[in-house]
Amino acid sequence: MSQKRTFLITGASKGIGFALSQRLAASGHQVIGIARSAPAQPFPGHFVALDLADSAGFKQALEDITAQFPLDGVINNVGLVRPQYLADVTLDALDEVLKVNLQPALLATQAALPGMQSRGFGRVVNISSLTVLGVPQRTSYAAAKAALVSFTRSWALELATQGITVNAVAPGPTETELFRASNPPGSLGEQRYLSSVPMKRFGQPDEIAATIAFLLSEEAGFMTGQTLYVDGGASIGVAQI
Ligand code: NAP
Repeated sequence: MSQKRTFLITGASKGIGFALSQRLAASGHQVIGIARSAPAQPFPGHFVALDLADSAGFKQALEDITAQFPLDGVINNVGLVRPQYLADVTLDALDEVLKVNLQPALLATQAALPGMQSRGFGRVVNISSLTVLGVPQRTSYAAAKAALVSFTRSWALELATQGITVNAVAPGPTETELFRASNPPGSLGEQRYLSSVPMKRFGQPDEIAATIAFLLSEEAGFMTGQTLYVDGGASIGVAQI
């Protein structure tokens, strides 16, 4: 039986973050979740309402959270997509996307670090994306998600001897609010994504959550610095001839 742990999840009220919160809580772990507004269903843990684009507010919240909870791990899940063609990308749009995808990941991981180091155990999972392999209209988003892979590899090396693993999960198209906002049913986007997935279906949030939960487990202790594509085969499908 694995030990009960305490995990912080950003973007925890919907989609992948909420599915993960439910899955971890069902396994007996304590979950602290953050999002701007409370989930439609009761949150299975401690919920903090906060806009993660507000770095100062998040830093304060992290002080409160780490004073109250011994964090064993952080899942940097919050993400922001602004679909734009290259010619339309403004510096403000680039900043906005990088800010939400990267800054909370850095701040949350830094806040949890001293506790994880003192206990000699820690798990960090950064949520990247299949789009790092190349997708139109994702200049800012894919750049941010590629930087998360880079964070993962750097942090994994820095923390490798301290019992702290750092990995990334790169989901393919997954049936969530975020995905549907850019790809409504019947849209060209939906068709494009569906045709690119060898399994010919979208992922379900709990299928992504299951992989994240594995990376958080004791059993995944020898795995660090990796990026796992959970994408119905889409990342290998691009090499078809
Ligand atoms: P989702 O269903 O839209 O959920 C996003 C979560 O983040 C919600 O809880 C949302 O709650 C919260 N959130 C968004 N902006 C926030 C902000 N500024 N401050 C605080 N909380 C914020 O998204 P998802 O599809 O599960 O995505 C989760 C992660 O997977 C993201 O990093 C995304 O880029 C990545 N991903 C998703 C897919 C996909 O196809 N779905 C594919 C690849 C990667 P509030 O709106 O209440 O704040």
